[in-house]
Amino acid sequence: MKKIEHIGIAIKALESSNALFAKLFGKDHYKVESVEREGVSTSFFMMGETKIELLEATNPESTIAKFIEKRGEGIHHIAFAVDDIYAEMHRLESEGFQLLHKEPLPGADNKLIAFLHPKSTNGVLVEICMERK
Ligand code: ZN
Repeated sequence: MKKIEHIGIAIKALESSNALFAKLFGKDHYKVESVEREGVSTSFFMMGETKIELLEATNPESTIAKFIEKRGEGIHHIAFAVDDIYAEMHRLESEGFQLLHKEPLPGADNKLIAFLHPKSTNGVLVEICMERK
Protein backbone atom coordinates (compact mmCIF):
# COMPACT_ATOMS: atom_id res chain seq x y z
CA MET A 1 0.00 0.00 0.00
CA LYS A 2 1.30 3.45 -0.91
CA LYS A 3 -0.50 6.18 1.00
CA ILE A 4 -3.81 7.13 2.53
CA GLU A 5 -5.88 7.97 -0.53
CA HIS A 6 -8.91 9.14 1.43
CA ILE A 7 -10.77 8.87 4.71
CA GLY A 8 -14.48 8.12 4.45
CA ILE A 9 -16.85 9.79 6.91
CA ALA A 10 -20.46 8.66 7.26
CA ILE A 11 -22.83 11.60 7.60
CA LYS A 12 -26.61 11.95 7.67
CA ALA A 13 -27.10 14.87 5.28
CA LEU A 14 -24.64 15.73 2.54
CA GLU A 15 -25.69 19.32 2.02
CA SER A 16 -25.35 20.46 5.63
CA SER A 17 -22.19 18.39 6.12
CA ASN A 18 -20.63 19.92 3.00
CA ALA A 19 -21.22 23.32 4.56
CA LEU A 20 -19.89 22.20 7.95
CA PHE A 21 -16.69 20.66 6.58
CA ALA A 22 -16.16 23.61 4.22
CA LYS A 23 -16.21 25.84 7.28
CA LEU A 24 -13.85 23.46 9.12
CA PHE A 25 -11.35 23.12 6.27
CA GLY A 26 -11.66 26.67 4.93
CA LYS A 27 -12.41 25.39 1.44
CA ASP A 28 -15.23 23.84 -0.54
CA HIS A 29 -15.64 20.28 -1.72
CA TYR A 30 -14.52 19.80 -5.32
CA LYS A 31 -17.05 17.25 -6.42
CA VAL A 32 -20.20 15.32 -5.62
CA GLU A 33 -20.78 11.85 -6.98
CA SER A 34 -23.43 9.16 -6.48
CA VAL A 35 -22.63 5.46 -6.46
CA GLU A 36 -26.03 3.95 -7.19
CA ARG A 37 -24.99 0.34 -6.51
CA GLU A 38 -23.77 1.25 -3.01
CA GLY A 39 -26.73 3.51 -2.26
CA VAL A 40 -24.53 6.49 -1.43
CA SER A 41 -23.96 10.07 -2.42
CA THR A 42 -20.42 11.23 -1.84
CA SER A 43 -18.54 14.49 -1.83
CA PHE A 44 -14.80 15.01 -1.82
CA PHE A 45 -12.49 17.56 -0.23
CA MET A 46 -8.85 17.71 -1.31
CA MET A 47 -6.47 17.79 1.65
CA GLY A 48 -3.00 17.78 0.14
CA GLU A 49 -2.37 14.26 -1.18
CA THR A 50 -5.31 12.87 0.76
CA LYS A 51 -9.02 13.38 0.35
CA ILE A 52 -11.91 13.43 2.73
CA GLU A 53 -14.94 11.56 1.38
CA LEU A 54 -18.32 12.33 2.92
CA LEU A 55 -20.83 9.51 2.52
CA GLU A 56 -24.59 9.95 2.73
CA ALA A 57 -27.00 7.03 2.36
CA THR A 58 -29.50 7.37 -0.47
CA ASN A 59 -31.67 4.48 0.72
CA PRO A 60 -32.32 2.73 4.06
CA GLU A 61 -30.66 -0.52 2.85
CA SER A 62 -27.36 1.25 2.20
CA THR A 63 -24.41 0.10 4.32
CA ILE A 64 -23.97 3.75 5.32
CA ALA A 65 -27.55 3.91 6.62
CA LYS A 66 -26.93 0.77 8.66
CA PHE A 67 -23.60 2.08 9.95
CA ILE A 68 -25.17 5.35 11.14
CA GLU A 69 -28.07 3.49 12.71
CA LYS A 70 -25.65 1.34 14.71
CA ARG A 71 -22.80 3.72 15.47
CA GLY A 72 -23.90 7.21 14.52
CA GLU A 73 -22.05 9.59 12.24
CA GLY A 74 -18.27 9.42 12.13
CA ILE A 75 -15.23 7.88 10.49
CA HIS A 76 -16.35 4.95 8.38
CA HIS A 77 -13.28 3.72 6.52
CA ILE A 78 -9.69 4.46 5.57
CA ALA A 79 -8.72 3.96 1.94
CA PHE A 80 -5.18 3.15 0.82
CA ALA A 81 -3.92 3.60 -2.71
CA VAL A 82 -2.37 0.57 -4.39
CA ASP A 83 -0.69 0.15 -7.77
CA ASP A 84 -2.28 -3.19 -8.62
CA ILE A 85 -5.50 -3.98 -6.80
CA TYR A 86 -5.62 -7.56 -8.12
CA ALA A 87 -2.14 -8.35 -6.82
CA GLU A 88 -2.86 -6.59 -3.52
CA MET A 89 -6.14 -8.50 -3.00
CA HIS A 90 -4.27 -11.71 -3.64
CA ARG A 91 -1.48 -10.74 -1.24
CA LEU A 92 -3.90 -9.73 1.54
CA GLU A 93 -5.93 -12.88 1.15
CA SER A 94 -2.81 -15.04 1.35
CA GLU A 95 -1.83 -13.12 4.53
CA GLY A 96 -5.12 -14.20 6.09
CA PHE A 97 -7.13 -11.01 5.73
CA GLN A 98 -10.79 -11.39 4.91
CA LEU A 99 -11.94 -9.59 1.77
CA LEU A 100 -15.58 -8.55 1.50
CA HIS A 101 -15.70 -9.52 -2.17
CA LYS A 102 -13.73 -11.59 -4.67
CA GLU A 103 -13.39 -9.03 -7.44
CA PRO A 104 -12.69 -5.29 -7.25
CA LEU A 105 -15.76 -3.07 -7.57
CA PRO A 106 -16.19 0.22 -9.40
CA GLY A 107 -16.15 2.99 -6.76
CA ALA A 108 -16.50 6.75 -6.73
CA ASP A 109 -13.74 8.97 -8.11
CA ASN A 110 -12.89 6.69 -11.06
CA LYS A 111 -11.49 3.93 -8.87
CA LEU A 112 -11.54 0.19 -8.56
CA ILE A 113 -12.01 -0.62 -4.90
CA ALA A 114 -12.08 -3.52 -2.46
CA PHE A 115 -12.92 -3.68 1.24
CA LEU A 116 -11.44 -5.84 3.98
CA HIS A 117 -13.72 -7.19 6.68
CA PRO A 118 -13.15 -5.07 9.81
CA LYS A 119 -13.04 -8.16 11.99
CA SER A 120 -9.74 -9.12 10.33
CA THR A 121 -8.27 -5.60 10.81
CA ASN A 122 -8.92 -4.76 14.47
CA GLY A 123 -12.25 -3.15 13.73
CA VAL A 124 -11.00 -0.77 11.03
CA LEU A 125 -12.85 -0.89 7.73
CA VAL A 126 -10.00 -0.79 5.22
CA GLU A 127 -10.52 0.04 1.55
CA ILE A 128 -7.85 -0.40 -1.07
CA CYS A 129 -8.24 1.48 -4.30
CA MET A 130 -6.60 1.82 -7.66
CA GLU A 131 -7.00 4.51 -10.27
CA ARG A 132 -8.90 3.14 -13.28
CA LYS A 133 -7.07 3.58 -16.54
ZN1 ZN B 1 -13.92 5.26 0.14
